Amino acid sequence: MNEPLRVGITGGIGSGKSAVTERLINLGVNVVDADIVAREVVQAGSPALEKIAEHYGDNILQEDGTLDRAALREIVFSKPEEREWLEALTHPLIGESIALQLADATSPYAVLSSPLLLEGSQREFVEHIVVVDVPESVQIARTTARDRNSEELVRSIMAAQMARDDRLAAADSVIDNSGALVDLAPQVESLHGKLLTLANTR
Ligand code: ADP
Repeated sequence: MNEPLRVGITGGIGSGKSAVTERLINLGVNVVDADIVAREVVQAGSPALEKIAEHYGDNILQEDGTLDRAALREIVFSKPEEREWLEALTHPLIGESIALQLADATSPYAVLSSPLLLEGSQREFVEHIVVVDVPESVQIARTTARDRNSEELVRSIMAAQMARDDRLAAADSVIDNSGALVDLAPQVESLHGKLLTLANTR
């Protein structure tokens, strides 16, 4: 059997990556979620979390020893040098884990879902790029409804991500998630068919 085709799914915060990958998982596709990996590398008791607590003090931890992610977000998205520090610590660990999980995939194609697929070295993991696209106003509305973050914070996270036009320019396939969730399902099914064909005809 061929190695699975490696497909990257990206889009800004709140664009609907998880909404897409949930449906792909239901279709039997192996999905690696970079957001989940990013949480795993700083889980309670991990060496990376210890370094974060040394750097910012124990106030960055919650009572149960887990990372206060909202507090860390507030720090790193207001101070670029702190974001660099954190990324230098976590990105190599995240990359290692992604590579291991993709190597274990058994579906005809495997997906890496990541908000930062196109910004750094993660792009090298994938052969086909799918962009989940929505207007920025929709990103802000859906993210503030989902998380407890302020609109200001969501805007600063978006500012640190690639601009919508640049992301679209890098896409091999685009999913338009500006409509209702019922409009998403048929697009995901048609993408699935296209990717299976691509995987089988390589
Ligand atoms: P991402 O993983 O890209 O950050 P999510 O898939 O979590 O984005 O979507 C952001 C929020 O918007 C979630 O609460 C999700 O349920 C909701 N959402 C996603 N797609 C739609 C849609 N087409 N219509 C309405 N809400 C949506």
